[in-house]
This record gives sequence, C-alpha cells and structure tokens, in this order.
Amino acid sequence: MIQIYNTLSKSKEEFKTVSGTNKVGMYLCGPTVYKPSHIGHMVGPVIFDTVKRYLVYNGYDVRFIINITDVDDKLINESNARGISMAALAAEMTEDYQANIRALNVKTVSDFPRATEHIKNMIPFIQRLIDRGYAYPAEGDVYFDVAKFPEYGKLSHRTLEQMQGEGGSMASQKRNAADFALWKAAKPGEPSWESPWGPGRPGWHIECSVMCHEMLGDTFEIHGGGLDLMFPHHENEIAQSECCTGKPYVKYWMHNGLMQASSEIGKVGGRKTRAAEPEEGDLASQEGGKISKSKGAAAFKDMLKEFTGENIRFFVLSTHYRRPIDYSKERIQQIGAGMEAFYRFFKRFQRVTGESFYSLPYAKNRVDGDNFASSLQGDFLKGIVESRARCLASMDDDFNTGGMIGELFEMLKRLNKFVDENKLEETKDAALAKQLEAGARIFRELAAILGVFEEEIKQEEGEDSNLVNDLMNLLIELRKNAKKAKDFATADAIRNQLNALGITLEDRPGGVTEWSRN
Ligand SMILES: [Zn+2]
Repeated sequence: MIQIYNTLSKSKEEFKTVSGTNKVGMYLCGPTVYKPSHIGHMVGPVIFDTVKRYLVYNGYDVRFIINITDVDDKLINESNARGISMAALAAEMTEDYQANIRALNVKTVSDFPRATEHIKNMIPFIQRLIDRGYAYPAEGDVYFDVAKFPEYGKLSHRTLEQMQGEGGSMASQKRNAADFALWKAAKPGEPSWESPWGPGRPGWHIECSVMCHEMLGDTFEIHGGGLDLMFPHHENEIAQSECCTGKPYVKYWMHNGLMQASSEIGKVGGRKTRAAEPEEGDLASQEGGKISKSKGAAAFKDMLKEFTGENIRFFVLSTHYRRPIDYSKERIQQIGAGMEAFYRFFKRFQRVTGESFYSLPYAKNRVDGDNFASSLQGDFLKGIVESRARCLASMDDDFNTGGMIGELFEMLKRLNKFVDENKLEETKDAALAKQLEAGARIFRELAAILGVFEEEIKQEEGEDSNLVNDLMNLLIELRKNAKKAKDFATADAIRNQLNALGITLEDRPGGVTEWSRN
C-alpha cells in the first residue's frame, strides 16, 4: 500500500486512483523558458520521474505531464533584450531544459505541452468562468473574483486577509486585492492573441488548469510542484478548475522542498548564516535560502561538465522529497565518492560471473519481483530479500527515496561480504556465483526504481583518457616493482599520493591492481 502525504489534508493518505482503475494522471508545473535552467529546476523532474517509476512498478499506467510556459513577461523582456523573437527564445531554452533532464535520466515524461499551443482552449475556459459569475472582464483584462469561491485558501491553509495578491498597477481594476489575472491585455508591440476581451495573453495560472483539464480530465490523481508554488499558483489553479467544472481538481497535492544554498564552503551565494534545521513543509524558512539565478546558481549544463547526471540524481534523491535539499558542490562530490562503492561492486560482479551487471535481467514490476524473491533460498539470499522488503517499505511510505538509498548501501555490504567470505574472485564457484547473480538482479530491480545504475556510464574517450590510462598503468607497474624490491615506503607513497588526487588503487587476487576515481 502506497501512502502519499497530501498537502491538502496535511496528512498521509493511502493512494487510490480517482476511477478505481490503474490509470493515473500526474502533472508537474514546469519551467518558464527564458533563461538556461539551473539545478533548482531539476529537483521536481527527478522526484516526479521517480514517483512515476514507482507507480509503474506497482502496476499503474501513468500519464505524466510537465508544462512549458513559453509566454510570460519574463520571456517578453528577455527576448527584447536579446533582440530575438519570443518563440525563438522559448525554443532555445526548452531544448536546454529537456537536454538537462535527459542527462538526469528523467525519461518517463509523457508530454511537454506548451502554453502557446493551448491558448485556443484557455479562451472558452475563461469565458465559462465569466458566465458562471466567477470572473469579470476589466479594460481588456479578465480577473478571477476570489470572494466568489469560499474555499479559496484551502490548500495553503490561509485566510483571505493573508492573501492580498500582487496589487500594483492593476489594483484599480480589481474588485479585491487577492483577485488574479486570467487574461492580460497586450501592450503595444507585445505578442498577443485575439480574444472576446481584446488582444492579449493568458495569465500564468490558467495555463496549468486548462492543460490539466484537457489532458488529464476534470479530476486527476497527482499534482506536484515546489513548495513555493503552493501559494498563489496552486491555490489559483484549484479556484479556476473547481469553479469551472464544479468537481474536485486534484486528489493528491505533492509539494517538494526547495533546494537551498548550503552554509558550507561552495554555497551558491546569498545567505551567510543558516538557521536551525527548517521544518519540512515550512515555506517561510525555505524561501530565504532558495537557489535561484539571482543567487548565482550556475547554468545546469555547466554543472554536467563537473558531475555525472547519475551523481546529481543520486544527490537529489538522497533527501526525502518534502525536506529542503542542502546544495553544495562538496555535498555532490561526497555523494559521488559514496557511489564509487557501487561501481566497484559492478566490476567485481563481472570478474566473478563474467557477465556485465548492466545486462542482468530484472523484474520490472512488483508482482514479478515478489515472485522472483519468493523463489530464492539460503541465508544470503534471504537477507537480500529482507533488504528488498525494507526498500519497498520506504518507498511505500511517501516515496522515501533517502531511506531506500540507505538500505541499498546495506544490501551492497551483504553482496560484497558474500564475495569475500566465499573467496569468489578466486574460486569463481559456479553455484555460488549463481546466488550472487540472483542477489544482484534484486539490487538492479531496486536501482531501476530510483533511475540509477541502469546503464554503464561511458568513460570519455579521446587522447586524454588514453593518456591517463597509460600513466596509471605505468604507476601501477612502478609500485609493483617497488613492492618486489621490498621498498614498501615507495609503494605506499604511490598509493597515498594517488589517493590524495582522488584515485583509489585496489589489489586483486592474482596480482592485478585496479584503479578508480573517488
Ligand atoms: Zn502550474
């Protein structure tokens, strides 16, 4: 049974689909594509890609949508500043965003609808809100009248007085300060679309309501987004959709914690001090340290020159999604160094079995996984099966990926211990190797849920990496000769100094020495 923490009820609820079938609709508010994406934009896609993987693993058929906001004040300003069309800017930044999430192995997104392609459906949706008395036109704009929806504030648990809205230049046209724009009249020279209220463009909130309605129906299962979108964006989506259809909009609201600049060295900028551990779900305490372009967050594609996508994905998933993620390069490096233990095991597995870990077959769903697990015997495999059950229990508990990662490290210890105790690298005993393989298949089944260790990371090819290999072989040879000559001081110095450079040497049975980067 999967439990989801629902922001709407502020409690964990058992996951059940709206229809009672296995069909699930899931929507994540996507980027406004006016600047290259930074790591803060990558948190939601990684989390909800993992949520989808887990639901699919549990037999659900999930349609997962991330919208692309390609019309907005920020896009208009940036395209003017760069002297290109808004459409050209949006196309460039959408490509940047999609390339970045692909690098993080986010590959379960069903559709990326673009706002400008759905304006024709936004107009009748807004008209219906006007007809039903929930919205009113004013000098070419259209506003939603929040006073007409008594449930306004039910998601963010705020009162109308606490939601005073943006005010600003539009304040005079509004009935209440908290009213928000569904349609904005175009200023001269701005991109615009024809409408019954004059040329203009849609407000940001209406996009999500209309695309959800169109692609996922009146009521759907999961709506996700960062905690900072809960108010006003998601509150407004609820008001628009529920007033338009008269039905509940979303069954489970899932809000992820924000990525924060760490107080450690290497922080992204802005904040110097960090208060006591923020409460999960506490927006006020997270907003202060939130990573943003203005705080100097680097373009994500530059981060990919320093870290593998797999490293960054593992880093994001090692914190529970509702908690804030502490960002620092040191932290990502630490996580990457921890992951080396897995990569070393995969090489070890290949030496014992002659097979690649990455080509092992594995269960793609829970039923097949349970069947395979229940067929296994012996203490070692029973231990692995129990560890698998703890992994799944973590995921069942509101997608606790951090708990599952902790358990995967425990499983890794068991796998290595089995190789060590049975001296499998030397004996390569076929029956025991088969048991190791069964354990590794379970490991692979679980890793695939997290979207990690699915494919071997290709080493960069080219002159440099060949040269590095040749130099490493030279150093390994020199160390071996030093040991033969009983010059242990030199042999140790080579090992230690390589270690300081981030390279680990491992002596294998048969006099083979392997090296890997930490
Ligand atoms: Zn949205």
